[in-house]
Amino acid sequence: MKKETIFSKIIKRKIISDIIYQDKLVTAFLDSNPQAPCHVLIVTNKIIPTINDITADDELTLGRLFTVAAKIAKQKGISKNGYRLIINCNKDGGQEIFHIHMHLIGGCSLGPIVSICRNDN
Ligand code: 5GP
Repeated sequence: MKKETIFSKIIKRKIISDIIYQDKLVTAFLDSNPQAPCHVLIVTNKIIPTINDITADDELTLGRLFTVAAKIAKQKGISKNGYRLIINCNKDGGQEIFHIHMHLIGGCSLGPIVSICRNDN
């Protein structure tokens, strides 16, 4: 069994968070440090540390991240204007929590993706 993460504790409601959606495959809750008016994390219930660890067996779960993101974006009223979905991977990708999660960010104009490399590592 994989080691618990802060997100698996939220999923099992061992830690209180603002859960806005949950099914057998994924759970969505508000990011505790929002970067935009809407910042939701959609997390796989299964503990998969990074995108590098996914297998074909996970395809249904990963697809669910997108369908739930679209559903929540509609509920939040940001579908029409648009939003950004981000999954970070490992150190250079800026991943902090090693349990796959998709960021749903929107509610304002986000502008272009910053493409400058940070060479401080
Ligand atoms: P990452 O950098 O791994 O892609 O994103 C981790 C995200 O998890 C960050 O946006 C951070 O604010 C959020 N986060 C970290 N700890 C917690 C927590 O305990 N509760 C919630 N709701 N979000 C968290």
